[in-house]
Amino acid sequence: MNPEDLAFLKSNVPLLACFTDAQREEMTNGSNIAVYAPGETIVYAGDEIHFLGVILEGKVAASAPIADGGQEPLGRLDAGETFGDMALMTGDPMVADLVAETRTRILFLPLTLFQSHIMAEPRAVQQISRTIGARLQAVMRDPAKATAVMCKEDTAGSLELKAERPECILVLNCGSSSLKYSFFDTSHPENVVHGHIERIGLTGTRLVQDGAKGEIVRELPQSGHAEAFDAMLGALVDKGAGVIPDASAISAVGHRVVHGGEKFTNSVLIEDTVLAEIEALNPLAPLHNPVNVLGIREARRIFAAVPHVAVFDTAFHATLPSHAYLYGLPHEYHEKKGVRRYGFHGSSHHYVALAAAQFLLKRPRELKIVSCHLGNGASLCAIDHGRSIDTSMGFTPGEGLIMGTRCGDIDAGVVSFLERTEHLTAAQLDEILNKKSGLLGLSAISNDMREVEHAADDGDLRALTALKTFCYRVRKYIGAYVAAMGGLDVLIFTAGIGQGSAGVRATALQGLQCMGIHLHEQRNREACDGRKISRISTDDSPVTVLVVPTDEERMIARETLRTLSRDYLVHASAACQREPVPIEVSAHHIHLAQKEVEALFGAGHQLTKHADLSQPGQYACKEQLTIVGPKGRIERVRVLGPTRKATQVEIAMTEQFKLGIQPPIRESGDIEGSPGCVLEGPAGSVTIDRGVICALRHVHMTPADALRYGLKDKCTVRVRVPGNREMVLGDVRIRVDPSFALAMHIDTDEANAANLRTGAQGFIDGIQHED
Ligand code: AMP
Repeated sequence: MNPEDLAFLKSNVPLLACFTDAQREEMTNGSNIAVYAPGETIVYAGDEIHFLGVILEGKVAASAPIADGGQEPLGRLDAGETFGDMALMTGDPMVADLVAETRTRILFLPLTLFQSHIMAEPRAVQQISRTIGARLQAVMRDPAKATAVMCKEDTAGSLELKAERPECILVLNCGSSSLKYSFFDTSHPENVVHGHIERIGLTGTRLVQDGAKGEIVRELPQSGHAEAFDAMLGALVDKGAGVIPDASAISAVGHRVVHGGEKFTNSVLIEDTVLAEIEALNPLAPLHNPVNVLGIREARRIFAAVPHVAVFDTAFHATLPSHAYLYGLPHEYHEKKGVRRYGFHGSSHHYVALAAAQFLLKRPRELKIVSCHLGNGASLCAIDHGRSIDTSMGFTPGEGLIMGTRCGDIDAGVVSFLERTEHLTAAQLDEILNKKSGLLGLSAISNDMREVEHAADDGDLRALTALKTFCYRVRKYIGAYVAAMGGLDVLIFTAGIGQGSAGVRATALQGLQCMGIHLHEQRNREACDGRKISRISTDDSPVTVLVVPTDEERMIARETLRTLSRDYLVHASAACQREPVPIEVSAHHIHLAQKEVEALFGAGHQLTKHADLSQPGQYACKEQLTIVGPKGRIERVRVLGPTRKATQVEIAMTEQFKLGIQPPIRESGDIEGSPGCVLEGPAGSVTIDRGVICALRHVHMTPADALRYGLKDKCTVRVRVPGNREMVLGDVRIRVDPSFALAMHIDTDEANAANLRTGAQGFIDGIQHED
């Protein structure tokens, strides 16, 4: 970098003023400079940001795209100012288009340098949070600007594969006699390859690879997994239809692992200890996990120098509440042996839910979705506010729907009956329930839905019965999940049968108009090409029904990238290791809207302060109320001030039984679809039709804290609480706002269970999710 630019950075860029000359030089050496002509766009709203932009010369106009295709001007940036800081901090895409007004030169400082230098310097962090705070306030003062910015914020979360630097990702799905692989290149999105080696260890081993550069079909000699992995590499580096020059071109490997047990609630970077922990879960998935582990070992042999990430089929369902995942068995089978419902097909359900939200231009957390993954294996998933809250597969993939060869739900008494009367062993019963049942068992024709449908068309009664039984089970689960979520916005069909069979979709949905599901028959018949998302409901159907092609491999590649960036962030942040977060226990409380204050305490009544709370501007009031539910009441519940737009009642988990209400676990302010209650005050009582929640545990922090910890608003972390009984609390939501004070809030139940008091301290231990 030339000396004039370095001098400019020192004296004209407040953010960089606090660094030494040597540090500034180091930062600029790792950065790029680009020049823009007047009118040229520098970044678009919606772009994901992996750099901090510093304007060296020129003027830049910022504007937000609005609904009718127009632009809402937000302001102008001059030489010396920075951009991208807010996006880096929140993890959200850019909210504004930035266009050069004059000839403009920009220094792009990559995220890695931003993290290692700027985040490590408290004065720079302070400076950046001041800039963000000022910009937020300027935007929020103007309603038009605020709307423009808020509408852009966090649509569906992009499904495109993006990374800070170009990445070539190999996704592997290793089975007992098969190896499926996919290749993705973030800088050449069209350069995708899918490959499949079947009959490993048997005669007739065969590799088929298909990609942008053509197809490869190879017959392989009979041999084991090691040879199959070598054959895969051979096809990937093939001079004709291959995609990479040699193994070193792969920069990350994502592995599909079927079972993560209760231990892995998210994707994880594979180290030796992690591999041992995955192996320890083998008894939970004896047919799958051992071969997944074998695949990881083989891949680490071939791609030894790059990070490997395990993506679990079960992880998306880690959010199931205990009433959905527990069986009605003696509790020790869950506590000691891990017998509970886990759910599978997580990558597919997650992918189609995100793709559907993106298609509908909605945020996932606005929608109640039922996803029907109907393939050779089949499961339904209820996704409420972006989180899986129930799914039809259970302890094994055998529960739930009728599948190609699995029976799905069955009375356990049948198993012991067959054992007694037919003298069958456990292995024989497993074989019957998993390999000989389902469509195959019922139809006695095939496990393939296409063949069953043909036979049914030809009048085969057993095939017709198999088809009807299959569809009835799907319909029954849809109904159950509408009840579980208390409503439905989007119904998705995916996988081989879901994408391919108009007949199954129509039969499964027949008669569900009572739930607002209106199928458009012609759209349904036409939606079978399997490549694009199709809407198959009528235009006025209250529930949108979509056919969404699944892409588990892309989802695994995306998770791999996200895991690597999360892992980097937490390791880069010394604050996570050294700076504790104070823990505060929050008892049940009520936030009131002014209308309800007056109804409960009398016309014109204003809340009166009793004591300040740790969050600036928040206080406990003198006023107290009684909460009344269908079963019982809780007296003397403190009201918190100031008043809010909507009344909200936060109770502890155990109190729900006292009241006879089952509230969802939600972030404060997110009361959509929550139950109501009656509130009694000295001047009267009011009935609220929604607003009762159990608070999701959360950490309040300022933008400066977030930068120090390397965290983003709305991400979910684990917090380690050291002590005699060290423990890790998962599912802790990060909430960033300039007005917050650093504190973690947990409710009284959790505090009692963990023997914690206000004043305890926790350490950020890892990032679970970023959505
Ligand atoms: P998957 O597990 O998603 O690969 O789905 C495979 C299964 O989907 C096959 O075994 C078939 O039963 C079914 N299938 C694929 N295409 C169709 C189609 N066009 N119509 C009905 N079923 C199909």
